[in-house]
Amino acid sequence: SKLKLGLTKTRKGITEKIDSLMKIYTKVDEEFLEELEEILIVSDVGMSTTMEIIDKLRSEIKTRKISDTEEVKAVLKDIMEELLTTSKDNDLNISPSPAIIIVIGVNGVGKTTSIGKIAYNVKASGKKVLLAAGDTFRAAAIDQLKIWGERVGVNVIHQQEGSDPAAIIYDAIQAAKARKTDVLICDTAGRLHNKRNLMNELGKVFKIINREYPEARKEVLLVLDATTGQNAIQQAKTFKEVADITGIVLTKLDGTAKGGVILGVTSELDIPVKFVGVGEGIQDLQPFNPKDFVEALLS
Ligand code: GDP
Repeated sequence: SKLKLGLTKTRKGITEKIDSLMKIYTKVDEEFLEELEEILIVSDVGMSTTMEIIDKLRSEIKTRKISDTEEVKAVLKDIMEELLTTSKDNDLNISPSPAIIIVIGVNGVGKTTSIGKIAYNVKASGKKVLLAAGDTFRAAAIDQLKIWGERVGVNVIHQQEGSDPAAIIYDAIQAAKARKTDVLICDTAGRLHNKRNLMNELGKVFKIINREYPEARKEVLLVLDATTGQNAIQQAKTFKEVADITGIVLTKLDGTAKGGVILGVTSELDIPVKFVGVGEGIQDLQPFNPKDFVEALLS
């Protein structure tokens, strides 16, 4: 599958190493678990999440009296699937209409590209989509969103560089109402170098949305770049302090062996992943499902 292909590098880092470990070790002992721990840490699963996985595995092995390494892999799959499953839904919560999706994240993570691809997905499901170019600090971001708008065939509400992001969101909401738009997707500024700045910028945008569009279902998607590994988790923690994030979009999984970061992100933050990016093409942003992901990763 495309997902499995997109995970090639991560599979090299995790799956292939686990497979060769299974060839070396004929039985499951502490040494085996230590080697496994090492593989997970190197794949950017993160220290605490790795410990959680190994501890769960150790106790499962004990209670189920597992000695065969093949069986360990099945247990590992279950543990990973459980970690990737949060208390919240992995699907976009955009029905019934209207809905608004606010997309946040630092520059370069793939925010604009993800907005284009989400717009494509949502439009393909038969909904009327509108985009708002809320990242007004970079002329390039506005231009790029316009290009995506043309490519996908959806309108983009924009003003010139330097205008007030909250004013654009305001305009976009009025346009969404007037045009009976199902889903309004908003870009936001990504040049956020400190928390106060971030809070001010996003605070204004959320205030406008709550005041002008209370009837809309709201998704706040945080875009993270998988190639940044543990740094992505740090970014998520900062953003979580200033926004009620409802989902994560993890991009560039195809470009990294650090795909294990997805486990750290969901388990440390309890925010569901809603999309994963496995390439630059328009169909390479895939809706996320824990079971399919673990199958693609470990099978
Ligand atoms: P922004 O600054 O956050 O808006 O980032 P962009 O949307 O401009 O994306 C930065 C770069 O990352 C672009 O070259 C995208 O094509 C690329 N990109 C985004 N998502 C993915 C992905 O899932 N896989 C790969 N390989 N590249 C991606």
